[in-house]
Amino acid sequence: MIAAKMQIMDCGVSGFVRASTKRAREECAHPMSYKGKCLLCNEFVGDDHGMAFEYLLPDLRITEFHADFIRRMHTNKTVKAGKLHLVLDLDNTLLHTVRLDEMAGAIMLGHGDLLANGRDLVLINNEFLTKLRPFLREFLKEASTMFEMTVYTMGGCVYGSIMVELIDPDRSYFSDRVITREDCTTRGRKSLDVVLAEESNVIIIDDRRDVWPEHGVNLIQIKPYHYLSEDGTMMEERAVDDDNDWALLDILERLRDIHRAYFSPESEIEGIKDVRTLLKLIGD
Ligand SMILES: [Mg+2]
Ligand SMILES: [Zn+2]
Repeated sequence: MIAAKMQIMDCGVSGFVRASTKRAREECAHPMSYKGKCLLCNEFVGDDHGMAFEYLLPDLRITEFHADFIRRMHTNKTVKAGKLHLVLDLDNTLLHTVRLDEMAGAIMLGHGDLLANGRDLVLINNEFLTKLRPFLREFLKEASTMFEMTVYTMGGCVYGSIMVELIDPDRSYFSDRVITREDCTTRGRKSLDVVLAEESNVIIIDDRRDVWPEHGVNLIQIKPYHYLSEDGTMMEERAVDDDNDWALLDILERLRDIHRAYFSPESEIEGIKDVRTLLKLIGD
């Protein structure tokens, strides 16, 4: 994980220096700061300089201008590796979690059987009961061959890491790209401003359109996944519903089509190397 962080820092700082050595020497534009100090000239720049990218490294801030620069560099690098970017919501998209203290105690008796059913229903720290959406593992495995993936949840940082630990324990899919509520720049809203990839190359999967007011054109809205009811009374019914939940496989098929179209020779000619155009062309 450290390596991944250093990679992005390196890609950003050294690239910036190469591109603007002269200017940086004469007058540092303080592109990135860490713990309030510029990473290039070491001058103290304060902690309101630029935007926070705490999920990459605590106390890291990057100016908007430089974040754009990193986005371009990073996107080019990813495209060369044959990949686009995928931003994934957690709750009701990839999984469904309920807090145990919100569930009716009597109903808890029923969970023993369900817990024994397999590893897709997990009790965590006696605090959360989480059910993974059907085909989640298959989805992540295949999507990771076509996309660099980021988790973006409105849940808190602790909750986010617990859930990622569950679905990607060695962080082979998400590395340090786990964005949580604390990273959002506007309360109650998600935005690609904290994602270090160009908007033309980012597809978002989320069950909620309203939280993405600026990026509806990047979004594939998925049917919300509800497995656990808070009073537990519908558990059996939910299990039956689960057998009919193909949403992740359906989306995977669409992602395959978009990826294929983006990297096809025709897209060069037609100038459609933009997932927002492809999302319109390749409907669901
Ligand atoms: Mg959600
Ligand atoms: Zn500086």
